[in-house]
Amino acid sequence: MRPFGIYIHIPFCRSFCPYCDFYKVRPDGELMQKYTEAVVNTTASFSHIYGRRPVDTIYFGGGTPSAVPGSLIADMPEAVRENFDVASDAEITVECNPSSDLESFLPAVSAAGVNRVSLGLQSASDGERRALGRASDAVRVRQAVSIARAAGIENISLDVMLGVPGQDRESLLETLEFCTGLKVPHISAYMLKIEEGTVFFDRGESLDLPSEDDVCDMYELTCDKLEAAGLKQYEISNFAVPGFESRHNLKYWRDEEYLGIGPAAHSFADGRRFFFPPDINAFIEGAGTADDGPGGSFEEKVMLGLRLTEGVSGLPADFVRRVAERSDLAPFVSADKTTLKLNRRGFLISNRVISEILEMI
Ligand code: SF4
Repeated sequence: MRPFGIYIHIPFCRSFCPYCDFYKVRPDGELMQKYTEAVVNTTASFSHIYGRRPVDTIYFGGGTPSAVPGSLIADMPEAVRENFDVASDAEITVECNPSSDLESFLPAVSAAGVNRVSLGLQSASDGERRALGRASDAVRVRQAVSIARAAGIENISLDVMLGVPGQDRESLLETLEFCTGLKVPHISAYMLKIEEGTVFFDRGESLDLPSEDDVCDMYELTCDKLEAAGLKQYEISNFAVPGFESRHNLKYWRDEEYLGIGPAAHSFADGRRFFFPPDINAFIEGAGTADDGPGGSFEEKVMLGLRLTEGVSGLPADFVRRVAERSDLAPFVSADKTTLKLNRRGFLISNRVISEILEMI
């Protein structure tokens, strides 16, 4: 039986970023206490359904986990250990906002077993960070990395954003040099997407966004600079020193099973996908999950696996051959017997290339 990953959603944010469409609410002492109890209770109910399954990753995402007192977060891995068979070398990640009180938060969660931190840098340019609604400056991000290391956490990831308002090649270069100078072993570099229902969406044309060509150029620059610094690309947007790839996120892309706890958290277990509705009060009151259909289909494995540089292997040879013979796909795909991979040009237009491939199934 393959180990589960467990995702715990912490839906609290002190301020709301203008590009964000995640489910979140403002932090409130009593609400955070009740929420922690609900996470602990849900962990126990999941173990009644799935048994004492092995678990090898736990991921606290948000929202902003570091907006919650470290003592409350610390109760959650404990609850997972009480109800599941957690590996002694489990990867336990917590997402942090550098502007949080990390001086008290990180030692508390480290003592509870957290051994990986993902910090939201987005940009080393304070102007770009302000445009994204981020309060802290680059100096604070540097301090946050030091605080994590002082708390015994060396496995640190920085989030970088491409296509930010006002960003250009030079400012991105400064951001990448800032990251590589900190010698963190993992960097995620996501392209800004303008989602409906966000402040950025409403601002429309008035946003000073780089052109599509410039963003493609920035993506290539990012891949080149990070690879040159020893951070090997392993997914469209993720780069790591070998051995420091996110074991939790790899489960999503390899179509493996995981349990998601919290409002708007999704799960994939025993062949079904399901999720908790995005409503913190309903979650606290014990509302159940909603079914999201079957998971683990061939199409799904291809769609997710093509995000990885390792690609998808074990495919029928005639399917791989048919893809390889398509002259319009050839510049974006590499095919070898039963394995398909996208190359960097393919990653740049991955949605289009993957949907063309899926139509051939
Ligand atoms: S901190 Fe993260 S989750 Fe919260 S509003 Fe900003 S982007 Fe969204």
